[in-house]
Formats: sequence, C-alpha cells, structure tokens
Amino acid sequence: MEYIQYGKTGLQISRFGLGCMRFPKDENEAVAMVRYAVDKGVNYLDTAYIYNDSEVITGKALRDGYRDKVKLATKSPIWNIKSHLDFEKYLDEELQRLGTDHIDIYLLHNLNPGNWITVQKYDGLRFLDRMIEKGKILHKGFSIHSTTEAFKEIVDSFDWEMSQIQLNILDEHQQIGVEGLKYAAQKGLAMNIMEPLRGGSLVNNAPAEIQRLIGSFPEKRSIAEWCFRWLYNMPEVSVILSGTSSLEQLQDNLRIFNQARPNVMTAEEQKLIAKIKDVFESGKSIGCTGCRYCMPCPKGVSIPDIFRLYNNYQIVKPNPIDQGIYQNNMVPFASGADQCVSCRVCTRHCPQNLDIPQLLKQAHGELSKPWRP
Ligand code: SF4
Ligand code: SF4
Repeated sequence: MEYIQYGKTGLQISRFGLGCMRFPKDENEAVAMVRYAVDKGVNYLDTAYIYNDSEVITGKALRDGYRDKVKLATKSPIWNIKSHLDFEKYLDEELQRLGTDHIDIYLLHNLNPGNWITVQKYDGLRFLDRMIEKGKILHKGFSIHSTTEAFKEIVDSFDWEMSQIQLNILDEHQQIGVEGLKYAAQKGLAMNIMEPLRGGSLVNNAPAEIQRLIGSFPEKRSIAEWCFRWLYNMPEVSVILSGTSSLEQLQDNLRIFNQARPNVMTAEEQKLIAKIKDVFESGKSIGCTGCRYCMPCPKGVSIPDIFRLYNNYQIVKPNPIDQGIYQNNMVPFASGADQCVSCRVCTRHCPQNLDIPQLLKQAHGELSKPWRP
C-alpha cells in the first residue's frame, strides 16, 4: 500500500480509502471486511451520519485496537442543522455511535448551495474551529457535489484542510471536475475522490464495446482498474475512496492499489481512456452540445445543465447521483425544468434544433424520480 502526505495535515494516509457507505448486509461480514482492509494497510475510513447504520458498524469494527490503526472520517448532516448548537449535538451523537472520543477528519457533508447557506447562517465554520480546540475533531473539511465555481468560492472561504469531490472518467469536466481538483490541491488541500466508479455503474453497465476495447489493449486491466488508474495517475489526487460491498471486491481493489502511483499513464493509455469515454457518451439521448446559446432562460431554467445531468443519468442508469443533484441543487433553487413555461425563446437559438421544452419535460420526469444516496 502506498502512503501519501495528506495535504497540510501532516498525516500519512493510504492512497486507497475504504468508503463505508455500501457495507455488506451481514454485520459480521461488514466488520470482518473493515478489519481485513486495515490489516492490509488501509488507514482511512470514510463514513457519514446519513449512511444508515454505517457509523455504528464502523464503530464495532474499530474495537479491539483497530481504532488506533486508522484515521476516521465522518460527516455532519447539514440538512438537519437548525441552530449553531445542532452541529455539536450531531457530532456528539456520531462520536457515541462510532465509540470514539475524537474524529480525525470531520467533513461538512455535501455543501450544495442550500447546505452552504445553512453553514453560513448557523456559523458552521466557527463550529469546526471550536471542536478542534476541544479536541473532538482533529482536521476539518467538506464534501460537495456542485459546480466548479461554487466549489472555488467555498475553498476560498475558509482554512480548509481537505475536500472530498466526485470524480471519475466521465466527470472530468463535470461537477467540480479536474479543474476544481487542481485549484484546491494547489492551495494545499488534501483531495479525496468519491464515486471513482460512479457507484459501480461504470463497471456494471459497461457496453460490450468497452470490453472489446480494453481486451485488445496490450496491458490487460479490468474496466475498474482503468478507472482507478486514471485517478491515481493525477498527483493532485490524495485518497481514492471505494465503497466495496464484498470481500472479493475489496481484495480486487487492494490488488489494484498495490500498483497505484502518480504519473504512470502513457499517451496510449490516455487515448484508450478517451475511447472508453466516447463509447459511454455515445449512449447520450439528448444531443445537447453544451454551447449555451439558449441561455439565459427568462424563467431561470438551467437548460444545458439539466440535459447534461439527464445524459449522464442515461449513460449509466440507474444513477441516483444525478437525480440527487437535480433534486437538491436545482429544483429547490428554481432552476429546474419544472420552471419552464414553454415560451420557446430558447429553441430559436439552439443550433441543434432541439425541442427544448419537450426534452425538459422528459428530463424532469426521470430526474425527479425518488432516489437513495
Ligand atoms: S421554453 Fe422553457 S426553457 Fe425555453 S426559454 Fe422558455 S421557459 Fe425557458
Ligand atoms: S443551445 Fe441547444 S445545444 Fe446549445 S446548450 Fe442550449 S440546448 Fe444545448
């Protein structure tokens, strides 16, 4: 296992971090899986208040001396916060669930526009500094699914030590993207990557053409291995989180990360990744190029952003991540497709001749369906 300098924290962290969001259903199996990972050198565990019973099971796994072998990260449920004191109330509950007296890395969970307003309203940044003074947390960070611009604003607002973003081969230029990764890393933040396989959908829903592409490449690697390799190749990436739900998956991940080093990809390998992306993206169902000639919509509809989310959703369906972003980051802020009044101002400017109001209805129907994180 390779260990890296974790930003400016002074910590040495394993390149592979165990995501505790998708534990096996059997609790004993989950505990055994966590301990297996730690025994193999993984020293970063990532959980959250919202991950069902993950904190309780993680706490059980960390008994018998395992707590001292890891750096433990968990997250504040910002959407539950109704006052400044609520931050500490939830932190205390998490400490109790996890059976520990401190959290090594504490994250404000998913700073989408609404949650960021909550953090500012109830002074969540002062809470983090107060908890460091009390010793309840040791390092402070945040996770986020949002835009690069919103991410940069948050990065510049506080003396953060780390951030956790979604990044994978299909999100290179989406959400925070590689641009945001480099921006924050250059400011000294340790950068955790979540959803490296988009919740497993890049592996589970890979078209046969992708198997043919990787099968004909001289070095034989699985699609999961290529996705991880694309990430650990970037020196700005600190820890890659993978939420394995079986010992077999964990063992395969550990095998892959035994060879994880930055700057290892050749030009031919990068071309292969580009071809893999092309195959995934050829499954797009709305031919929006993202040119933004249709913007601004007088009703505030984020037309290209909605089409991009919808296309992502279609590529690797079922994909709750894009539904979550739409329902949490767009609809509540009056930029969803439900704001469209079919005035057709936008269609006059679309070089692709898209029937935008009709396609917005289609996208809204899918992206509004119930989802689970
Ligand atoms: S048709 Fe809908 S999306 Fe297009 S400009 Fe009018 S309100 Fe906006
Ligand atoms: S003008 Fe058409 S192609 Fe361009 S962003 Fe708008 S919908 Fe997409």
